[in-house]
Amino acid sequence: MQTKALNKQKEPLELFREKCRERGISITPQRVAIYSVLIGNQAHPSAETIYNRVKITFPDISIDTIYRTLSTFSNMGLVDEVEGYGEVKRYDPELKQHHHFRCKKCNKIVDFHEKSFDNLKIPKAIKEKFSVSNIKVVAEGLCDECL
Ligand SMILES: [Zn+2]
Ligand SMILES: [Zn+2]
Repeated sequence: MQTKALNKQKEPLELFREKCRERGISITPQRVAIYSVLIGNQAHPSAETIYNRVKITFPDISIDTIYRTLSTFSNMGLVDEVEGYGEVKRYDPELKQHHHFRCKKCNKIVDFHEKSFDNLKIPKAIKEKFSVSNIKVVAEGLCDECL
C-alpha cells in the first residue's frame, strides 16, 4: 500500500490543503489557523477554546466564523464532532477509531484504544433500523484530578 505509506509521511497541514483543494474550499489563513489549533490536540477542544487561541493571531475573527469553519471541517471529514450530552460540542482531530473516557465533573475527554471495543456486536434491533458507521465506547466517571 504505497499510497498509505505516503499519506503517513504527509504533514497534517499538507493533508489539510489537499482536502481543501479536493473540495474546492479556499485555504484562508483563518482556516489554517483554526485547523492548526486542532492538529495533535488531544483535549477535544470546544469552539470557544479554539476561538480563544485563534483570536490571538486574528483578533477580528468571530465565534460564528469558528463554528461555521468547524462545521465545514466536520463535513470534509477533517474533524469529528464529539458527543455533547447537553454540553457544548467538542471537536476531535483524531479520525482513527478510538474510544473516550469522559470525566463527569470537569468534562475532560481522554482518548483510549481498545481493540475488543472496536468490533462490538451491534444489536439486531439497531442494525435493522439504522445504519451504523462507527462504534465509539464512552467510559464515564471521575478523572484522576477530580477523584
Ligand atoms: Zn475531572
Ligand atoms: Zn477522541
